[in-house]
Amino acid sequence: MSENQPETVYDVVIIGGGPAGSTAGIYTARANLSTLILDKGLTTGALGITSKIANYPGIPGELSGAELLKTMRAQAESFAAQYVNDKAIGTDLAGSPKVVYGNAGVYPARAVIIATGSLGRSNLIKGEAEFLGRGVSYCAVCDAAFFKDEAVAVAGKNDEAVEEALYLARFASRVTLLCPTPELVASEELIAELKANSKIEVLLGAAIHEIYGNTHVEGIAYAQRGKEGEQKLAVKGVFIYLQGGVPITDFLQGQIETSVQGCILVDREFQTNVPGVFAVGDVLCQHIKQAVIAAADGATAGIAVEKYLRGRAKMGVDWK
Ligand SMILES: Cc1cc2nc3c(=O)[nH]c(=O)nc-3n(C[C@H](O)[C@H](O)[C@H](O)COP(=O)(O)OP(=O)(O)OC[C@H]3O[C@@H](n4cnc5c(N)ncnc54)[C@H](O)[C@@H]3O)c2cc1C
Repeated sequence: MSENQPETVYDVVIIGGGPAGSTAGIYTARANLSTLILDKGLTTGALGITSKIANYPGIPGELSGAELLKTMRAQAESFAAQYVNDKAIGTDLAGSPKVVYGNAGVYPARAVIIATGSLGRSNLIKGEAEFLGRGVSYCAVCDAAFFKDEAVAVAGKNDEAVEEALYLARFASRVTLLCPTPELVASEELIAELKANSKIEVLLGAAIHEIYGNTHVEGIAYAQRGKEGEQKLAVKGVFIYLQGGVPITDFLQGQIETSVQGCILVDREFQTNVPGVFAVGDVLCQHIKQAVIAAADGATAGIAVEKYLRGRAKMGVDWK
């Protein structure tokens, strides 16, 4: 559940806690701006899913992207930035304050930084669009209660998918988690919780080919590595948390100017066409997608937000 107080207006709400958003948070929180970072899961972004990283400056040797991200998040928290595990599903960016709507809470802010990365999906599963809202969902918190004592399927491999499967198991009679890769990419604690839940079955290396039904979802057809042919599974609900390769901007619903490729357009200080709304990292279609570049964007935007909120003419850094 969100720890957010509905009446709190933050100086800045950052959507996405990857290297871009977390670095922006380090700078805004250290500049004494109240900073909330909304993120849907540690292993949900590009850095979070990276198994080994060895080229981030100041971090010699190899470590997982999730470990590096935990360090960045701890650093932001040390300056009083607050992380909330929630997914942005809508925004109202024209008003004052600006408002970010999550699955679990509402987050008003004087400035917003968008740092959601580029793992958005481009290809839908056959039947996904047809049955959206009629059995297909992207939000267990919103829709799990509709599937009380029914069988449901979850597609995904990361923290978000595991957390949603665990949430669904409180309502559904059976939850089948179809993980497209040979292993889940989630924290050990979450995987242990998953294994201990007798209502949840995990199918590794399994991909949904089709969601079928009449007026509502009745089942899925899927293939699993090592098994011949297509299998069928009767379910009433399908919750999808898969990843692709396009900028994640769906929750903005056209409120921010983007390029024809769907990347958010910004000026040199990473401000979008809406004053007080900034965007950083992979959601910008950088030529070179690297953690250090995303972090550098976040630093510039963090300083630019302070300039915007404090009405300063020039960007300034606190050297202390
Ligand atoms: C397999 C792989 C290997 C890589 N290896 C390297 C490497 O070795 N070195 C290197 O420097 N770079 C590497 N990169 C690139 C690097 O990971 C990215 O450039 C960098 O992570 C981009 O940072 P970001 O913060 O913009 O986005 P991301 O890291 O993708 O973070 C985005 C965050 O936004 C959150 N989010 C998304 N949508 C929402 C929403 N609606 N609501 C709330 N939160 C949301 C996600 O949970 C995620 O935490 C690799 C990338 C991949 C995919």
